[in-house]
Amino acid sequence: LSTMNLLHVSNLEVFYGKVQALQPAAIAVDAGQIVTVIGPNGAGKSTMLNAIAGALPANGTQAGQILFGEKNLTGIAIEKRVALGMSLVPEKRELFASMKVEDNLLLGSYRRYQAGEKDYADQMRVVYDLFPRLKERRSQQAGTLSGGERQMLALGRALMAKPRLLMLDEPSLGLAPLIVKEIFQIIQRLKQTGVAILLVEQNARAALQVADYAYVLETGAIALEGNAADLAEDQRVVETYLGLA
Ligand code: ATP
Repeated sequence: LSTMNLLHVSNLEVFYGKVQALQPAAIAVDAGQIVTVIGPNGAGKSTMLNAIAGALPANGTQAGQILFGEKNLTGIAIEKRVALGMSLVPEKRELFASMKVEDNLLLGSYRRYQAGEKDYADQMRVVYDLFPRLKERRSQQAGTLSGGERQMLALGRALMAKPRLLMLDEPSLGLAPLIVKEIFQIIQRLKQTGVAILLVEQNARAALQVADYAYVLETGAIALEGNAADLAEDQRVVETYLGLA
């Protein structure tokens, strides 16, 4: 077992009621890495991400070990996981539609603020540098943003918590191809800031282009894993996931 992993997940299983949605799975993310989990609709990608973040729905139960740095996350509440440096951008971006862009961002730093960290203005500058569009629209109601801008705001809000690990659930979902390209460019720029990224995506082509390492999830089990560049050339991956994209 490598002590270098920022995130080390082993034997992670999830059930919804009696139905098993995730077979015992192991994944790892190193500091500064982009790791992607690709796979078709319903394979269990969101389930895996939510279990790691501590955000399973009420009917979900999980077993297994999740190590974040030195810390075993079993039984640790989502708020505490955020405080430890994990930030999740859920598939439904969960913004506050009637609130301004800037206030949505501020909410992302709320827990750090409560803990006595008053550097939110610095972090806001970092976010506005990454997303000039959000700065232009800082006073606009979040609910009136375009789909791409909403995804940027969801990413920006997660970054306000100064995470060591950013977990993204299908950031390209529902976005036009040009915007998808922009979002993936931003993901690459985020990596340069040093944050590690765990990226769940149905858009295998785009995800494999930005990732260092990849897992393929099929019907609740990891079917394949490897360096992203190698998987992008793997015959089975090409035929199943890259053929039509
Ligand atoms: P998608 O890309 O469509 O979101 P996914 O790979 O993220 O797919 P999950 O959302 O994790 O897949 O779903 C995995 C399986 O678990 C699916 O069969 C889904 O119907 C089921 N499932 C998800 N959430 C629940 C729930 N709260 N209760 C019962 N079953 C669920």
